[in-house]
Amino acid sequence: MIARLAALVAVLAVLSVVFGVLEARWPSIRGQRRRRPGLGTDLAWWFWNPLVNQPIAFVGVLLVVVPIALVVTAGGDGATLKERLEARETWLSAQPLWLQTVQLLVLFDLIGYWSHRGFHRIETLWRYHAVHHSSVELDWLSAVRVHPVNELGTRVLQAAPIVLLGYDTSLVAAFVPLLTFYAIGLHANLRWDFGWFRYVIGSPVYHRWHHTTELEGLDRNFAGMFPWLDIVFGTLYFPRDRQPLEFGILGDVVPTGLLRQLWYPWRKRPAAAPGPDGSVPAEA
Ligand SMILES: [Zn+2]
Repeated sequence: MIARLAALVAVLAVLSVVFGVLEARWPSIRGQRRRRPGLGTDLAWWFWNPLVNQPIAFVGVLLVVVPIALVVTAGGDGATLKERLEARETWLSAQPLWLQTVQLLVLFDLIGYWSHRGFHRIETLWRYHAVHHSSVELDWLSAVRVHPVNELGTRVLQAAPIVLLGYDTSLVAAFVPLLTFYAIGLHANLRWDFGWFRYVIGSPVYHRWHHTTELEGLDRNFAGMFPWLDIVFGTLYFPRDRQPLEFGILGDVVPTGLLRQLWYPWRKRPAAAPGPDGSVPAEA
């Protein structure tokens, strides 16, 4: 545990320096404060996320994946489930690794797209996701503000089909840290839109539009890695000539503080609580 904490402090220090330099050199919003509102909350999330959220999500994934894996690998008596999964050969796992990697990334992002869209469109789910959207001054550290129910839901939905379909499971383990760092970069206060590749790979500007409270950007840009998924499903907003300036959620205030944000989705609210677009449902 001490070693884990020390590693988290070390990574935090390194990323603070790296993003400190990048955000100073290529800011999307010039002059944004480093000691911004919610900084202490996000520092608490930085530790909470790997120490609590991820183990919860891991157990959730196991609860869903193990029964599926037992069925799809039935007949391998004597071997452990891990050995049976590794020994399992499907036409998908027989492909070259690079091809599996591309397919897995697209599948991950496709499922991530629809689960993310679900977290925006379904009012009960939005309460959990609103916590992630509550940063009003967005930078790289804002990425870690993710409610455990949000993390659990997304990870379970992403992991189950991968095992069911029969991809090489060791690939998935290799992805996780990479995708985590990628998600951190997407929130950074950087004016990078990746030019010619803007629709191929998600950039900070693309994802910062997802976090805006400016009306044009509401409920847009749901993909994590591949903006072309938003083109396919009609949800892209990615102008060339401007970048978002306002962030947060409309119609409600998510309190600061880790514990208050953890409790936020369950707290008692007025009958007509605002939805993701800030609108109040009409009385029935
Ligand atoms: Zn969102």
